[in-house]
Amino acid sequence: MGESQAKDLEFKVLADIFEKLEKTTKRTDMIALLVELFRKTPAEVIDKVVYLMQGKLYPDWMGLPELGIGEKLIMRAVSMATGFPANVVEKEFKRLGDLGRAAEVLKQKKRQAALLAFFGTQQAKPLTVSKVYNTLDKIAKTSGPGSIDLKVKLLGGLLQDATAKEAKYIVRIVEGRLRLGVAEATMMDALAIVYGKTKAARTLIERAYNLCSDLGYVAKVLAERGIEALREMKVTVGRPIRPMLAERLSTPREILMKAGGKVLAEYKYDGERAQIHKKEDQVWIFSRRLENITHQYPDVQEHARKYIKAKEAIVEGEIVCIDPDTGELRPFQELMRRKRKHDIHTAMKDYPVSVFLFDILYVDGEDLTEKPILERRKRLKEIIEETERFRLAEAIITDDPDELEKFFLKAIESGCEGIVAKAIHQNAIYQAGARGWLWIKYKRDYKSEMIDTVDLVAVGAFYGRGRRAGTYGALLMAAYDPEADMFRTVCKVGSGFTDEDLAKMADMFKPYVISHKHPRVDSKMEPDVWFIPQIVAEIIGAEITLSPIHTCCWGKIKPGAGLAIRFPRFIRWRPDKGPEDATTVHEIMEMYHKQLKRIEEAQAARAKI
Ligand code: ATP
Repeated sequence: MGESQAKDLEFKVLADIFEKLEKTTKRTDMIALLVELFRKTPAEVIDKVVYLMQGKLYPDWMGLPELGIGEKLIMRAVSMATGFPANVVEKEFKRLGDLGRAAEVLKQKKRQAALLAFFGTQQAKPLTVSKVYNTLDKIAKTSGPGSIDLKVKLLGGLLQDATAKEAKYIVRIVEGRLRLGVAEATMMDALAIVYGKTKAARTLIERAYNLCSDLGYVAKVLAERGIEALREMKVTVGRPIRPMLAERLSTPREILMKAGGKVLAEYKYDGERAQIHKKEDQVWIFSRRLENITHQYPDVQEHARKYIKAKEAIVEGEIVCIDPDTGELRPFQELMRRKRKHDIHTAMKDYPVSVFLFDILYVDGEDLTEKPILERRKRLKEIIEETERFRLAEAIITDDPDELEKFFLKAIESGCEGIVAKAIHQNAIYQAGARGWLWIKYKRDYKSEMIDTVDLVAVGAFYGRGRRAGTYGALLMAAYDPEADMFRTVCKVGSGFTDEDLAKMADMFKPYVISHKHPRVDSKMEPDVWFIPQIVAEIIGAEITLSPIHTCCWGKIKPGAGLAIRFPRFIRWRPDKGPEDATTVHEIMEMYHKQLKRIEEAQAARAKI
């Protein structure tokens, strides 16, 4: 018995940590709590602990069924487990506005007598992580006739065995509302402390995660076989690789200098990034955020099956809507329209797409991520039978800034966003999960008078006045600091929202509202409402200025000052981006320096006149 217990973890330990995590306001405390938790967690269940902490059962990309139990059914299960009739559960839920809390309160008051009659006289054993996870897994996978009742029964049984606090968190997980805001980076920091003492350990963990996109699996390998085992982690068909990303610059000269003199420049197509995996006749398509989007693109699947001439391969490209009559590229919004359509077959007919391939990461047993780009591109060309709907991205190799600028203008004219210039030296490997200088994007909007658009994370909100009374009037926005894994504020945005945006805003943010500043947020401003950093918006502003209140790049340019975006305007939500995909504080700093340079140049030019 001792043995079997040692291989599991009491769910109470996890629930206690959840509760503490909800109250922390410092990232270092958050890590300390995770370290404490991982130290207590046996290898057998560490993957389950990692998933549950993210409020999930599996990584999203697996495309496995989600828990998907509606509020009504959860209330039935709570009623079953507490002995209170459904209308009492509903009243408590309405009063508290939180089903998890309602379950907790009712569990505390539960009618013991009614329960004994219902479930018999057995005394409940303490819940374990495996028990909770396996029951939730069963709930998720049950389907077909009678499955609804079975799901309610399974959940009811679990809640019956749970303590009040455990019930609160089980309900939140089932509802998909756990939302502790624990990022993968935070968990990796904690895992590195527990399983490896050096900085190299953190790098190894991250590399393994970048290759398999499954932190539960990485944690399990670590706990079972130690840090060295991670070195053997390989690219696998069917498991997405975290995408390589680009830095940005705004002149061909700078790009060439930064990239080592000569580049492979490709059109930057404006569509959806797709990582296409093929194994014999089986095809998977993963989005930039690693969601499994295979079912949205039967046409792309078909092309991959037909035109990838290899048994197994992982390639990357951009899916773009095209005009079937002229072959011209259509704008990004058209692809969004296709994605919103329910009937995939009409969507496919109304919005045909082409795929423009730009990379290959694996082919027939060979990992190509460590190979330089020109070799990858050559391999890609060898295995793709190019057609109008499935072909390689338009590209040139050049060391001439004028030629690069011409190619950029041609790309814009063809309906692209600009170009991506890629370094071609021997070390220009595929840096999974990293934004680095091996890829540099050069986009049209960098040329405007306005500063570049940025993608920022909402970390708080201010109530509106006048016409906006009753909803939010402005959002507090932050850039991401990847080294510290923190969000640092850079502006308060109140303009650019349509009436419809404003009307929907409070509901949209409701699940992310918390009573205090989130531990990963660095802010001197005190908004009326704090959020868990999750929702990303694209913002444009007039310029970047030094600021005594915003914390982005604090003290980096001048003591006692950070950087802020002046006159920010909301452009659109970016549901395709997660909080860690937001513009970084380094990018804001770059933009600030660029702007200074532009001003100096303009002044010098004026002085000459
Ligand atoms: P953006 O918001 O500018 O699209 P991003 O943050 O999604 O940027 P970046 O790494 O900055 O991603 O820019 C590269 C993106 O451009 C890729 O994610 C991909 O979707 C798209 N893209 C289009 N054409 C290419 C290409 N030829 N090579 C690489 N990426 C390309």
